[in-house]
Amino acid sequence: GRKLPKPDTTRYMTVSNQKGGVGKTTTTVNIAAALAIAGLNVLVIDIDPQGNASTALGIEHHADVDSIYDVLINDLPLSDVVATCPDIDNLTVAPATIHLAGAEIELVSLVAREQRLRRALEQYALYRDENDMDRLDYVFIDCPPSLGLLTVNAFVAAREVLIPIQCEYYALEGLSQLLKNIEMIQKHLNADLTVSTILLTMYDGRTNLAAQVASEVREHFPNQVLKALIPRSVRISEAPSYQQTVITYDSSSTGALSYLEAAAEIAERGSSLHRS
Ligand code: ADP
Ligand code: MG
Repeated sequence: GRKLPKPDTTRYMTVSNQKGGVGKTTTTVNIAAALAIAGLNVLVIDIDPQGNASTALGIEHHADVDSIYDVLINDLPLSDVVATCPDIDNLTVAPATIHLAGAEIELVSLVAREQRLRRALEQYALYRDENDMDRLDYVFIDCPPSLGLLTVNAFVAAREVLIPIQCEYYALEGLSQLLKNIEMIQKHLNADLTVSTILLTMYDGRTNLAAQVASEVREHFPNQVLKALIPRSVRISEAPSYQQTVITYDSSSTGALSYLEAAAEIAERGSSLHRS
C-alpha cells in the first residue's frame, strides 16, 4: 500500500448531504478504510439511525449495544462505545443503534443540544492522551439524510465537510440548499467549519449527463472537488452485504482503486489548502 502523510492535528470531517442514497455511507467507510490501511488512526462515528456504516465495517449494532445514542443522550463517554473494526487495523467505530431514531426529538430538550458530539470528541481526545494512545488522525462522521439535530451535532463537531455528489440532474439544486445550511451553521454555531472536499460519486461514464454535471460542479468548486471520481460499480454496492468495504472485499476493483485514490488526495492535500 501507499504511505500517506499524517495530518498535523486530528482532521474532523463530516460526510453530509441532505439527500439520501447519494453515497455518504459508502464514502465514509471506504475513505476511512483506505486511510486506516495506509497506517493512519481513523475513527468513524455513525450517527445515522440506519447504522449502515456500522454494518459495512462489521460492527455489532443491535438494540442492546451501547452506541453513539448513549453518548449523545446519556453522557456515556465515547471511549465506552468505540469498537474495533474486525478486518482493518487502526480503524475504530462508534456504532449507531435504532435508538438514535428517537434522539432527534430527545435532543431538543437537552442542555447544549448542538454541542454534545463535539464535547464527547474533545473528552475522547483527552482520554486517548491520558491513556497513552496515539492521537487520532481522522474522524469521519456519517450523517443521516436530513438537517435535524443529529446532523447539526456533526456540523458543530467537525472542521471540514466532505460532500459526496451523485452525478445526476438535480445534484446542483440540492447542493445550493446544503451550502445555505452550512452558512447558517458557520454564522451561528461553528465559524471554523469549511467545505473542504467534494467527491463525485456513482459516475456513469457512458452518459453525457454525468459528464456535464461533473464539469459543472468542478467549475463552481475548483478547489474542493477531488480529481478522483467514483464510478458506478456493482462491487461497491455488493460489499456491504458481506459486512465489508469494497477495499477489503475486492481490492483490485475499479471501485476500490477509485476510493484509494480519493483518500490519498484527501491526505496529501491536507486540510488548510482548500478553504472556501
Ligand atoms: P447514503 O449514505 O447517502 O444514503 P449510500 O452510501 O448508502 O448512500 O449509497 C446508497 C446505495 O447506493 C447503497 O445501496 C450503496 O451500496 C449504493 N452505492 C453507493 N455508491 C455506489 C457506487 N459508486 N456504485 C454503485 N452503487 C453504489
Ligand atoms: Mg447513509
